[in-house]
Amino acid sequence: MIVYFCKMKVVEINFLKKWYSSNRQEKVSGRWITLQQIIPLIENLNSNFKIRKIGKSFLKKDIYSVSIGKGKIKILIWTQMHGNESTGTKALFDLFNLFENPQELSYINNQILNQCTIVCVPMLNPDGAEVYTRLNAQKIDLNRDVIDKKAVETDVLQGVLNEVKPDFCFNMHDQRTIFSVGKENKPATISFLAPSEDIDRLITKGRKQTMYVINAMFEFMKKFIPNQIGRYTDEFYPTATGDNFQKMGHNTILIESGHYFNDYEREKSREYTFYALFQGIYFIASKQDMSNYKDYFNIPNNEKYYLDIIIKNVNYKDKKVDIGIVFKEKLINNELKFIPTIDKIENLSNYSTNKLVLDSDLVFFNKKDMKDWVKNEFN
Ligand SMILES: [Zn+2]
Repeated sequence: MIVYFCKMKVVEINFLKKWYSSNRQEKVSGRWITLQQIIPLIENLNSNFKIRKIGKSFLKKDIYSVSIGKGKIKILIWTQMHGNESTGTKALFDLFNLFENPQELSYINNQILNQCTIVCVPMLNPDGAEVYTRLNAQKIDLNRDVIDKKAVETDVLQGVLNEVKPDFCFNMHDQRTIFSVGKENKPATISFLAPSEDIDRLITKGRKQTMYVINAMFEFMKKFIPNQIGRYTDEFYPTATGDNFQKMGHNTILIESGHYFNDYEREKSREYTFYALFQGIYFIASKQDMSNYKDYFNIPNNEKYYLDIIIKNVNYKDKKVDIGIVFKEKLINNELKFIPTIDKIENLSNYSTNKLVLDSDLVFFNKKDMKDWVKNEFN
């Protein structure tokens, strides 16, 4: 079922939710997603998909591309260029399931696949993914390497970019739990960016098109998670992938998947990422009215007013303070652990949190005692 709002054609939300609840890709879940886990899923895709090995990582792991569709509009999506940012990868495999099992959504599927050719790189940094790091095995941040091209994975992405010549790119990332949005400082579950092409942040024709697509995703996503969708600063990063691809004429939409209440495995966040991606692609495929780029600037900014745990009103050095805790993610004995770490000792009344602890009887005389207590209490 299709409904209209803001002159945009969109899929009715409950319809999409229903499809998602019984059809998402169940074989991949959690935060730590490695190449090993996704190879069988790639190999099981049906013959509508074209599977290729497009290069190797520094440690000689295969980098795959998965293509579908036969349309003129070219879309390139890559995930896990930061190895520990896996939510986009999970959402991508949900999208593959939609293309394989569209059921009641087949009319949309046909429209997308007739209008677009979608090329996906489901894990650009398999070495980083293996050891749950942002960087590649050469300790290079692939999202800051587009000029220097020191990483082999950067060449692989550049190669597929040159070959596909995409009209639109989706650059999929995960953001930390600390990001908030809106007046109530809700967690930024999804954030967007239309990257700048230059230091003056000019609104070029290409950037406008990127903004249109983001607006379409924002309008759609607002129905699911109002006040949990943010916008990143468009400060120009001369070495960032998105900024340079946009400058080269490939409209690049940055999606940052973030925290949803108590969802440390990022499975809810994955669902919302899927909806955003789906709506973005559908909007591009249906060549709809693109006249409202200015609404982009009404998307609230991302802020940093969210913490994993806040302990209110403890006594510390003869003062009342709050303790703000963030989890550091660490692989220990092949298991991903969330290590509680003291991030702030101050009045945190402007902050929101996943877990609020009220304990005005707590007394600490020094930071070491506080650290020990936190370690015992939350580990
Ligand atoms: Zn990232």
